[in-house]
Amino acid sequence: IPSLDNLGQLLPSAARRWPRRTALVTDERSLTFEELDRLASRVAHALSARGVGFGDRVSLVSQNRWEWVVAYHGALRCGAVVNPLNVMLTGEELAYILSDSGAKVLLASGERLEAVGGVLEGVQSLERVVAFDGATRQVESFESLLASAEATPFEPVSVDPRSLACIAYTSGTTGHPKGAMQSHLSLVLNCAYTATMHVRTIDDIVVTALPSAHVYGNVVINSTWMAGGCVVLMTRFDPEGAIRRIEQHGATMFEGVPAMYATMLATPALAEADLSTLIRSTVGGQTIAESVIDAWETRTSAPLIELWGMTELSGLGSTHALYAPNVHGSIGVVLPGNELRVISTEDGVTECRPGEPGELMARGPLVTMGYYNNDAATAEAITPDGWLHTGDIATHDGTGRFFVVDRLKDMILTAGYNVYPAEIERVLIGHASVALVAVGREPDPVKGEVAHAYVVPAHGSTPDAEELSGYCRQHLAPYKVPRAIHFVDQLPTTSSGKLMRRMLRQSAATLS
Ligand code: ATP
Ligand code: MG
Repeated sequence: IPSLDNLGQLLPSAARRWPRRTALVTDERSLTFEELDRLASRVAHALSARGVGFGDRVSLVSQNRWEWVVAYHGALRCGAVVNPLNVMLTGEELAYILSDSGAKVLLASGERLEAVGGVLEGVQSLERVVAFDGATRQVESFESLLASAEATPFEPVSVDPRSLACIAYTSGTTGHPKGAMQSHLSLVLNCAYTATMHVRTIDDIVVTALPSAHVYGNVVINSTWMAGGCVVLMTRFDPEGAIRRIEQHGATMFEGVPAMYATMLATPALAEADLSTLIRSTVGGQTIAESVIDAWETRTSAPLIELWGMTELSGLGSTHALYAPNVHGSIGVVLPGNELRVISTEDGVTECRPGEPGELMARGPLVTMGYYNNDAATAEAITPDGWLHTGDIATHDGTGRFFVVDRLKDMILTAGYNVYPAEIERVLIGHASVALVAVGREPDPVKGEVAHAYVVPAHGSTPDAEELSGYCRQHLAPYKVPRAIHFVDQLPTTSSGKLMRRMLRQSAATLS
């Protein structure tokens, strides 16, 4: 019986309901649900003819492209466990993860295969490599893989909803990425709840540049498809390209991380653009300044809905419902059927009162089955009664709404005071001469640690460090004012555009 608690059923189900609707648009191709479904069936036939079956790992690495999406759903359909990989991994990191997860097949872009070179030969479990483009003699092309396969529908292998569907590595923002195990149920529930809370419909046209390999990008695609909507998938983000696509396709929704909104707002092309088709947009992945939310909402006359998510939750953990009052600066309410609470970082048990910061904990069917091959990390992250330590510091307002303060690991301890980089960033981004800003920690012989700010100047302005310091002094207690302000051309980010705070000093040094 076809059932949506199997992620492999998502496309066949959508194809039965809306065969002729456009599901995916990339620079190369536009595909209907029926076409996508047929392509995924072909991939499933081809993979199973090559010995891939239930539980086998299929890894994927490339920039956003239609072949990636088709391969992802094709692999799930034959019962395999998908393993989406970050496109920025080095050869060594990639080989490590492929070995760690026991990958049997790797599907990758020619560019990635060339970049990682011969390291793949060291991966014992790897039986086959398929190239999305630029195939060589040793590597089969995706095109020939598709051509070799039967054209009949491939009935998705039935799976226990609580079984492993995906090994997704975290972004590695705070250290080495960890492989979070996601079940079919957690992924399907996450997409269904997200679709409901943002009221996704068959008329939605969603523009995004989020990497499909990241949980946020994954949820954007699959939750839109659950509702029959269309995803316009950019290969990678650029502000002019994003604005152009919103106009060209009459997008009803844009989804991205805070830096994408900040750079679009700083782009001269925005002034002329017609963004009137947008009904709402979403933002998450990192704290966002209220000034950016305000500016985007004013410019588009549509809400910018904040969401908070984690790889360990298969996507979103909390967000605002479209028709609920949108409280700026809040990450909203927990997804249905799950729980969030804030506990004291002092004793690790006492629940915090409204407004009092503590660690955000999550429990419910979205919580990861654990970190793959890493019982120690799992035991550290999940309590015996199922609460996940998110590593985020948050507050709640007593009415079910949560507010992220910062990450536990990013907190700066200066002369005994806790300083949150996100709070300083929220102030500095409000200054007209600042396009992007990040705050990092520096050791200090007297105070232990101090904050340094790294600023990307706004288009056409030459900010002054003295003036910015003065601006901080107006808005922040003296101990929070950054000790130094550095001007840089860009900030170090992950492939999904999230800030890599621990790389700030290093990347500023290479730029100057
Ligand atoms: P790693 O766990 O490897 O250090 P990561 O935590 O960045 O990397 P992800 O799973 O991509 O990996 O991101 C989840 C984290 O992103 C959350 O724990 C939180 O710190 C941050 N985050 C997500 N959404 C928001 C938001 N709306 N506001 C503030 N922080 C957010
Ligand atoms: Mg994390």
